[in-house]
Amino acid sequence: MTRFIFITGGVVSSLGKGLTTAALGALLQARGYKVRLRKLDPYLNVDPGTMSPFEHGEVFVTDDGAETDLDLGHYERFTGVAAKKTDSISSGKIYSNVLDKERKGDYLGKTIQVIPHVTDEIKKFIEIGEKEVDFMLCEIGGTVGDIEGLPFFEAIRQFSQEKGVGSCIFMHLTLVPYIQTSGELKTKPTQHSVKELRSIGLSPDILVCRAKDRIPNEEKKKLALFCNVKPEAIISAYDLNSIYDAPLAFHRECLDIAVLNAFQLDTEKKLDLSIWKGVSKNINFPEGEVRIAIVGKYTKLGDAYKSIAEALTHGGFANNTKVIAEWIDSEIFEKENTASYLQNFSAILVPGGFGERGAEGKIMAAKFAREKKVPFFGICLGMQMAVVEAARNLAKIKNASSEEFHYPYSKDKKEIVPIIFHLEKWLDQGKIITRKFTDYKGGTMRLGSYDAVLIPRSKVSEIYNAKTISERHRHRFEVDISYKEILEKKGFIFSGLSPDGSLPEIIEIPDHPWFIGVQFHPELKSKPFSPHPLFSDFIKAALKQSRLV
Ligand code: GLN
Repeated sequence: MTRFIFITGGVVSSLGKGLTTAALGALLQARGYKVRLRKLDPYLNVDPGTMSPFEHGEVFVTDDGAETDLDLGHYERFTGVAAKKTDSISSGKIYSNVLDKERKGDYLGKTIQVIPHVTDEIKKFIEIGEKEVDFMLCEIGGTVGDIEGLPFFEAIRQFSQEKGVGSCIFMHLTLVPYIQTSGELKTKPTQHSVKELRSIGLSPDILVCRAKDRIPNEEKKKLALFCNVKPEAIISAYDLNSIYDAPLAFHRECLDIAVLNAFQLDTEKKLDLSIWKGVSKNINFPEGEVRIAIVGKYTKLGDAYKSIAEALTHGGFANNTKVIAEWIDSEIFEKENTASYLQNFSAILVPGGFGERGAEGKIMAAKFAREKKVPFFGICLGMQMAVVEAARNLAKIKNASSEEFHYPYSKDKKEIVPIIFHLEKWLDQGKIITRKFTDYKGGTMRLGSYDAVLIPRSKVSEIYNAKTISERHRHRFEVDISYKEILEKKGFIFSGLSPDGSLPEIIEIPDHPWFIGVQFHPELKSKPFSPHPLFSDFIKAALKQSRLV
């Protein structure tokens, strides 16, 4: 029988519901259970693909090409279970399914209402693939009391009724603030949040309380009494050095036991936490440290490049090193001297991004890294800018640029040479996909996993130790393969290509300590217990460089 755990949040947002869900998934796996983690987001966008990273953080892409919330990245990093399209849903998607059906005539004769039509659609989504796992963990985005969240809360209430006793539990994450002046921990916001939950028919089985430190038993008892939850089901989620300490910290707080008890499952079942003990050792006892510059546009919000930050940390784990990533807004190089900013770093990473703003600065960072022989990692737009730099400065194609910045590119005007062009037709698992620049913006990029064939004896084939790889993509533009010959004469090699040879997937400079650009997003597949080989090798190169700086 599949068991469902619904995770809701209260009091304020950003308490770490996604991380809590991910860490609980890892703990259940450590007891030998199969899990799947899902996110139900109440916002009206069909998916987060069209939202600004400034507002919503990174867009996480799944193997099957869904653009999802960054919490799915946490889920994958903690459980290693590859997320699917069916693990992420929003009100927008639910409503668009319902409205499609209405137009098709599926509900002919009926008045379409939130209850039952919208709630039914949500319930159907929760159940997808339920038979494949022991536990389905469903996190509801936002906080209880949000207007948009109501259909989701109502749907999970109905769902638990229909599934019957023992198949669903509710876990609520709240905040227990400490008031400095009175020296007290305050339980009232949690009491109010639980009251709000109750008013819509949901009673939490477990309360996870965010606080700076562990919550003393006295306060736990008080919370239990006022919130009608067993004292042993009040779990403190206190501040940690690293998010990867969360599974062990939650285990110390007996979160896994509380969940098993709530389902009346055997708590003696074997438990293997060796993976997390290993990760924790890596975090807490690094032997050295290395400073990496991340030159991008969305540097003000750490979440915008969440997976890159995590993958760098994992690369550090592989080298017993603490990675200190510093975010630099690329626009600064358009006004000030590049070297003065970059010379004290052991490596430079230019991540993905969209739009022209800051692009020239990224090109300057790539030039600096190439000329000064500083390890360089270009990801997606970062790779494209490194190619534009080489085209301009090595191949002397003065007007080399990307169509992204000059669309609609007019062949008559000849104002740019589109080394990076808008891809309108490509192969996806044997199927031809066609796109126009004027098409809808949502979900129309080259998305999800695609294979790349690696050139033998290249640096990347050594790093991956493979002939073919599969990595996740999210972009509209591509490096034009017709510049391969010109650039290869100038010391670049196109070391990874799409299986039909038409799309450059990886570029590298053999005569450089470490200069690699990839069209895909390797950061999305890195895990703390299995760092991505490109990130491990990049940090290794940075360490080597740090000994020279
Ligand atoms: N804007 C670029 C493109 O669409 C790169 C996208 C990215 O970096 N993910 O091709």
